[in-house]
Parts: sequence; C-alpha cells; structure tokens
Amino acid sequence: MARYTGPKCRLCRREGVSICLCKKCAVDTREFPPGQHGAARKVKLSNYGIQLREKQKVKRLYGLLEKQFKRVYEKASSSKGVTGHVLLQLLERRLDNVIFRLGFATTRPQARQLVAHGLVSVNGRKLNIPSALVYQNDEITIKLKETTKKLIKDNLERNQDKAKVSWLKADEANITGKVLRLPERDDVDFPINEQLIIELYSK
Ligand code: ZN
Repeated sequence: MARYTGPKCRLCRREGVSICLCKKCAVDTREFPPGQHGAARKVKLSNYGIQLREKQKVKRLYGLLEKQFKRVYEKASSSKGVTGHVLLQLLERRLDNVIFRLGFATTRPQARQLVAHGLVSVNGRKLNIPSALVYQNDEITIKLKETTKKLIKDNLERNQDKAKVSWLKADEANITGKVLRLPERDDVDFPINEQLIIELYSK
C-alpha cells in the first residue's frame, strides 16, 4: 500500500491551504510554496497549473497517490451520475475516510492505520482495506483492546467540536458507526472545485 510519507506540511504549503489537520500547520507560518525557490518565485499559474493544483490538493487530502486517484476518477466518469459529484462521493465513501468522519481518528492517515491493522469490521466482518467503499446501512465496529479503546475515546474527545457529518451516525459510547445514507456533494466541507479536476483529466 503506497502512500506519501514526506513532511506533511510541505503539501499544505504547496497547495496554499491546510490539509494536514495539524494544530499548528506550516501553511500559516510560512505562507509560500516549499522548496529552495518557494519564497523567491511568484508564479502565475496557467489554466493547466490551476487544474493540476486542485487535483493535487484533493488527492493529497484523501491520501491517495496518482494511480489510485486516477482510478477513482475513471470510475466516476464511467458512472451515470455527475462525474464531479460521484468522484467526491467515492472518496468520502472510503473506509478510512469514514473512520475519520466518525471521529474515531483525528486524521485520515491515523484512520487508515486503524483499518490497515485489521481493527475495523463492517457488518461483522473484518475489513482491512482502507480504500474499501461503504454502503448505506453498513455497520462499523472496532476491535476494542484496551489500548485501542483508550486511543479512540481520546480521539472522540479531541474531535468534540468538529462538525459531525449527517450521513454517518457515531455511537460514541460503544464506538460503533452506521452509514445512514450515501454522502452528497454538500456533505464535503472542504473547499473543492471538482470541475477543475474533470477539465484536467478530460483533456
Ligand atoms: Zn500542514
């Protein structure tokens, strides 16, 4: 399972917006792109550049590499729905994102780890694939060893003031979750212009 493992806030600074969920993101203290020439060079982005940055931002937000992201895009574009909406829906439905959205993890990479370590079950069956999609009425449970239980209770505590998503329901006392419905475009709270991504890939 490949993923980006470099400095997290390098990506935030590249996109000019915090995608790391750190308490102190470097995007706030170093407001210029990373790299040796980041501060010196004021780049005016071309159309292509703007589309590329938007795609990179979304890809990195959900922690995907290019090949995986392209595959999600292709699945979206061959579906019957509006490509951009389906794209975001598919990303939101990833099991790692769902664990994050339920508040059981404080970041998506942490959620991904809970899944990859085999601690997550869907409808009573262990599912250790972070990219697996959830469906309406899916029930999510977590294998609760004492250490995991403490970690997740702490995470729920830390996530208290984060907005809850209405398509999922978390039972915080029992650390279980349910998919009430599939996510809609409006359920994505991060500023994304998905049209730019479609323009990029449909060239
Ligand atoms: Zn950051």
